Amino acid sequence: MTGEEAGNGRDDMLIDGCEPEPPQENAVPDGFNADYLKVYYGKLFPHDDMFRWMSYGNDGKHPGCDQSYFGRREFSFTLDNDIYLRFQSFNSASDMEKSINEKCPFKIDIGPVYNVDPAKRHAYAQAGDNGFTPVERELVFDVDITDYDDVRYCCSGADVCLDCWPLMTVAIKVIDSGLRDDFGFNHILWVYSGRRGVHCWVCDGKARRLNNEQRAAIADYFRVYKGNENSQKKVTLTGHALHPFLARSYSEVLQKFFEGKLLCSQKLFSHEERFEKILEMIPDETATSELRGKWQESRRTSISKEDINIARWGTLKKTLHLRSKKVLGLGRCVEEIVFSYAYPRLDMEVSKHMNHLLKAPFCIHPKTGRVCVPIDPDCCEEFDPTTVPTLAKLLGELNMGVMRSDGNDEWDKTSLGKSVRYFRSYFLQPLLKSCKLEPLWCSNETAYNVLVLFSCALHSSIEEMDGVKGPAFCVFDTLMVGQERWD
Ligand SMILES: [Zn+2]
Repeated sequence: MTGEEAGNGRDDMLIDGCEPEPPQENAVPDGFNADYLKVYYGKLFPHDDMFRWMSYGNDGKHPGCDQSYFGRREFSFTLDNDIYLRFQSFNSASDMEKSINEKCPFKIDIGPVYNVDPAKRHAYAQAGDNGFTPVERELVFDVDITDYDDVRYCCSGADVCLDCWPLMTVAIKVIDSGLRDDFGFNHILWVYSGRRGVHCWVCDGKARRLNNEQRAAIADYFRVYKGNENSQKKVTLTGHALHPFLARSYSEVLQKFFEGKLLCSQKLFSHEERFEKILEMIPDETATSELRGKWQESRRTSISKEDINIARWGTLKKTLHLRSKKVLGLGRCVEEIVFSYAYPRLDMEVSKHMNHLLKAPFCIHPKTGRVCVPIDPDCCEEFDPTTVPTLAKLLGELNMGVMRSDGNDEWDKTSLGKSVRYFRSYFLQPLLKSCKLEPLWCSNETAYNVLVLFSCALHSSIEEMDGVKGPAFCVFDTLMVGQERWD
């Protein structure tokens, strides 16, 4: 029995992530071009799953279905040579599939669901302000590694490596837990952007119906990083107790990541200009000159075997702890440093507006040739962007699969298989199940918002005692405004 046959025999028992590598003779040269894409859209892109997702249960025959729903969604295609087609809409799954196969877009973006078919928007434009307007949109988040350039030393710009990628993993963990635990969202899809970041789609009915104000308030809830490249202090934590969400993020994710990984992988203390950047964040001259003195001294005499970054971080924490008893405003300094380096940095504009477009999952990134595959937040630390299948790899596997098997789904024969399976079983199926119960949720939406409002108020009362308005209070305010409108 050849190795290949042995591999086929075990196919059913293969665990996700252990798909066999295609042999060399089927290899397709690396690249990204219209010919490759045509094959990808024709044989591998999960058109049907995308349609079912974007339909949210409105593609059935039962009386509650809104047959116009899918047709009111904006898709946008970027063609070869940057030709940009906005306001594309489709009446059916086959209509969408046909258009994608024919136009072969280099990028597909997904926009909101409008009140009317976006392709016919001009006919409604005269009807006044509300003639053509977005009515639903997933709550989306965009995290891009280029926004971390001041705290990563391994790469810059669009480059990403396994030393800095964990910053994205931390972003997924922190935001995902906040969305689920603090806002009660359940149907959340994380997607690799194909090159240097991640996208998040919150698809619960109550998230899709948020207005711009409410979106901005939720995005603001997650915003801690307020600096820019010119400000020394990027994070200021106020109030006598840390906001519960931030306290949880710190103790469950950020501290472990900063001390266990980032300190050493980015060598945050081993060069003078790097530790100087951290010292700048300490508002106490006595502490900073003491630390600077020790580190300059230890550079000349160090014989310690302990990693220099860990040792210096330990010294910094000890010094600040002692000084904080004498100097006001130093109590949060260690946390502020950790938040500055590790807390997620969101592109706020993407989240705030219903009509912001976001790249569709399962697109191919033109520069890397990699598929924008979903990421399972429960095991996001296992995600490795350097092993995400490329277009060329998939086509090679496809050549191989056509020869050896006659299954139904072509993608199942390739390393795209586990991503589509994940999308279906962990995201799409539970989502569609919840859509069947949605009429119940709609009538309870006011009740839900009262609940969010109440929980935000509880969170904020801790900060309010200090007269500080915390991020949750913005949500509170906005929901109050929304509430009046619903009443
Ligand atoms: Zn890197």
